[in-house]
Amino acid sequence: MNKVILKAGKEKIVNRHHPWIFSGAIDSVIGDPENGSQVHIIGSNGNFFGIGAFSPYSQIRVRMWTFENEKIDQEFFDKRIDRSIKRRSYLMDKDHDSAWRLIHAESDQIPGLIVDQYSDVLVVQILSSGSEFYRPLLMDSLRKVTGINNIYERSDLDVRKLEGLKERTGTVSGNIPQEILINEGGYQFIVDLQSSQKTGFYLDQRINRRIIAEYCNNKDILDVFSFTGGFSIYAAGNNAKKIVSLDSSAEALALAKRNQALNGFSNNEHEWIEGDAFQGLRKMRDQNRKFDLVILDPPKFAPTAAHVDRAARAYKDINLLGFKLLNPGGILVTFSCSGGIHESLFQKIVSDAALDAGAYATILERLFQGPDHPVSLTFPEGGYLKGLICLKN
Ligand code: SAH
Repeated sequence: MNKVILKAGKEKIVNRHHPWIFSGAIDSVIGDPENGSQVHIIGSNGNFFGIGAFSPYSQIRVRMWTFENEKIDQEFFDKRIDRSIKRRSYLMDKDHDSAWRLIHAESDQIPGLIVDQYSDVLVVQILSSGSEFYRPLLMDSLRKVTGINNIYERSDLDVRKLEGLKERTGTVSGNIPQEILINEGGYQFIVDLQSSQKTGFYLDQRINRRIIAEYCNNKDILDVFSFTGGFSIYAAGNNAKKIVSLDSSAEALALAKRNQALNGFSNNEHEWIEGDAFQGLRKMRDQNRKFDLVILDPPKFAPTAAHVDRAARAYKDINLLGFKLLNPGGILVTFSCSGGIHESLFQKIVSDAALDAGAYATILERLFQGPDHPVSLTFPEGGYLKGLICLKN
């Protein structure tokens, strides 16, 4: 068995069951492990610490499979996947919803594997060389445990390069339609499985869509970065007076319009703006337009810590404009899904934006990613989505 020997004093992090071992914590590698294969982790004193996947190209040199001495085989993955799905059983309301994240990678103790269920289709993303190495076993376990044979792969993210992996998309097994219908919160949505962003739908916002819907009754809503209309459809369902949805993607807006018709909201007053949010918000400010509730759900401006400064300016910019576009007593719902922007920094950015907009604001609620995107206590990095509901008063 190939081995990774830790430097003296670096055992603490493994002892605390964090799933990553960085290259700087490693004293030596014994053997010649291939990319993604398993290695035993040994402390400087010769103690066994667990088994991980070796990733020679990445700074995250090892991702831990287990902190016990057990076999990494089909049965191991069957158990891990089963446990991951059981972890969600209390929140899977099958009468109303048909889409969830089933596996959230490190937080579900399967590093590098994301699995989203959209009705009877599973969409997988494999982001680490360890999960890539065991891909056939993982797919077999997924089919066995879920009973679903329709699997589509969307391993088309840049992070794969860091692991020495090429992109891969396509059908793994079964029949994959271009589009699929899902139920969420009493609404129906069309999800474009094959060409859409992410794995097709922003499942991490499900609970937040419900929470925000409560504020929409009889209000003028601006949904910025609307994608396929998640927040807009809930707003329409909660009797918003008027909705403006803005996104730079024509395809996303086309699906949003179809989603609106599908849910029978064709009579709502709804304006669709295709374009850049930074320009669109400025234009509305110059036109002195006002709204009762503004939602800002931008894409990841800071994928890593290196992008934080630029991202912070971008967040401040849109939040400042967001506050300016609000009527007195209006509500700003603002998100960041950047792992590199922590909750406290995000709040500071929003605070600076309010100051510059000349607005006094208070926090009504703090929002977070939904519970099917859990955060392990041993892996705080798993938490990425944060949001604030602010009252301008
Ligand atoms: N709120 C959505 C998810 C938003 S994802 C939901 O609940 O489903 C981010 C969206 O921002 C994507 O739809 C993307 O097309 C859009 N986007 C990215 N950059 C943009 C920009 N500069 N201006 C406007 N929209 C942008």
